Amino acid sequence: MLHPDYRFCPRCAAPLAQTEIAGRVRSACPACGFTHWNNPAPVVAGLVQVGEHILLARNAAWPPKMFALITGFLEAGETPEQGIAREVKEETSLDVERTSLIGVYDFTRKNELIIAYHVIASGEVRLSEELVEYRMVAPDRLKPWRAGTGLAVADWMRARDLPFEFVDLPVRAPDGNG
Ligand SMILES: [Zn+2]
Repeated sequence: MLHPDYRFCPRCAAPLAQTEIAGRVRSACPACGFTHWNNPAPVVAGLVQVGEHILLARNAAWPPKMFALITGFLEAGETPEQGIAREVKEETSLDVERTSLIGVYDFTRKNELIIAYHVIASGEVRLSEELVEYRMVAPDRLKPWRAGTGLAVADWMRARDLPFEFVDLPVRAPDGNG
């Protein structure tokens, strides 16, 4: 996928040119050789369990009834497990006790790759400013959706023999996460 936002080389500021490199047309710098590979960004997602319930949260940018998993970009220098523990702490104030991988999911629409964990957490929920409300949902009441982190919810339920039906999501806010 081309990235039309990048018009100039971030290394030497020369205009980027569309160049075929390694089988694809990519933005590259004729002056210094920089290539904008545009690889997907890794996002960590947490299906956060507190006691017997799963915490779902609503981002301030989302429509009223849309609740989803805790997500955030992996930071340089941290493992995915550290990344999801940091995000859960930052966004909910909960302490992560245990993480186990649910799976890895594509999110090509946003050029992201989702690494989804089942997270056991404890503490008092205090939401960050990014989140406006949360719900505690019994595991058998979760309703997965057919994209991004919804597929992780479905896989998690399937592994526990919890029956489920997919729901259709409302149209996503432009900066909504998976
Ligand atoms: Zn350059």
